[in-house]
Amino acid sequence: MAERVPYEEGYFTVPADPAEAPRLLGTRCRACSEHFYPRRATCARCLSDDVEPVALGPRGTLYTHTFLHAVGFGEHKSKLQGYAAGQIDLAEGPRVQAVLVGKPGDFRIGMPMELVLETVAQDKEGRDVVMYRFRPAA
Ligand SMILES: [Zn+2]
Repeated sequence: MAERVPYEEGYFTVPADPAEAPRLLGTRCRACSEHFYPRRATCARCLSDDVEPVALGPRGTLYTHTFLHAVGFGEHKSKLQGYAAGQIDLAEGPRVQAVLVGKPGDFRIGMPMELVLETVAQDKEGRDVVMYRFRPAA
C-alpha cells in the first residue's frame, strides 16, 4: 500500500496503520473546556489564549445532510454523479462540515457517523493524498 499524506497539514491525522481511525486536530480551552475545530490560538467562547491541541473524533452524530448534484471540487470528469455533504456534531462539541461517503438515501439525521480517510489524488512521489470524510458508523 502506498504511503499516505494529508491533503493539507494540520487538520487531521493520517495513521500509519490504515485500520486505525484518523482524528481531527482541534483545540481545547484550558480555562472553560470548550473544544474547537479547526485549531485556534484563542478561545472563541472566553477569549483565553490558554489553549491546548487535542485530537477530536473519530465519531460523531449527523446533524444535517444534503446531496449536491454537481461535480466534486477538483474533479474534472464530465461523468456527473454528485456527492453528499453534511454537518457532524463531534462528541466533544464542535460541529464539522464534511463530504459524506455514501449515496442519496444512506443518511438519517441523528445517525452515528465515523471519520475515514479517502484518497483524492497521488502526488509526484506516488504517495496517496488523503482527505477526511464521514460515513455512517459500522
Ligand atoms: Zn475558553
